[in-house]
Amino acid sequence: MKSHLIFIGAPGSGKGTQAARLVSLKGLKQVSTGDLLRGEIAKGTKLGEEVKSVMDTGNLVSDDLVVRLLQANINLESEQYIFDGYPRNLAQAQTLDKEVLKGVKATAVFFDIDQKKLIERLTNRRTCKDCTSIYNLISKKPKIEGVCDKCGGTNLVQRADDKEDVIKNRLEVFQKTVDPVLDYYKQSNRLVIVNADSSEDEIFSKISSIL
Ligand code: AMP
Repeated sequence: MKSHLIFIGAPGSGKGTQAARLVSLKGLKQVSTGDLLRGEIAKGTKLGEEVKSVMDTGNLVSDDLVVRLLQANINLESEQYIFDGYPRNLAQAQTLDKEVLKGVKATAVFFDIDQKKLIERLTNRRTCKDCTSIYNLISKKPKIEGVCDKCGGTNLVQRADDKEDVIKNRLEVFQKTVDPVLDYYKQSNRLVIVNADSSEDEIFSKISSIL
């Protein structure tokens, strides 16, 4: 089995966009803990109710809950995964090795980007409610305003936590927790850094070369 990928990057650093390309062009499977959590909220499950208020503020939900949700939604033997949005802190990185990967190979990819650019990217981000395709009102507009290029859906929405005050908190939470995670993967020679400010194609080819 080839190496799994672990995407690490601030909200808006382009992880989701690259993951979508790797899924459609390379056959990888993306597992985003943020998407799984939003799915629970949309389904109105008890877990969804539990996490909604935390997610609305941009803080992290409990490590234990997230890893259980992750485990319930992956099959490491049959798929090559992109872990998107997990791990978010050192404890989660250690749990991922001990309880999920258990010796299976995985490479961490850090999307390195200037924080100032992120607020603009995030406030202009729109997501298709029907197929989760990601757009940007400045740099990646849909061909027809308000219509998803991929599925034709007309629900291009702003995520509840992409509002400026929540974004600031999400970026702060990211900054506070990321360094030990990067050190963890660096120490075990499993860290690749990409310049997330370069073009989508350049980033894609750099990541593809790891596979
Ligand atoms: P994301 O879609 O990755 O930006 O995540 C959106 C929100 O979901 C975060 O702000 C957290 O509240 C929650 N979340 C997603 N992944 C995790 C994780 N690995 N650990 C804790 N909370 C998470």
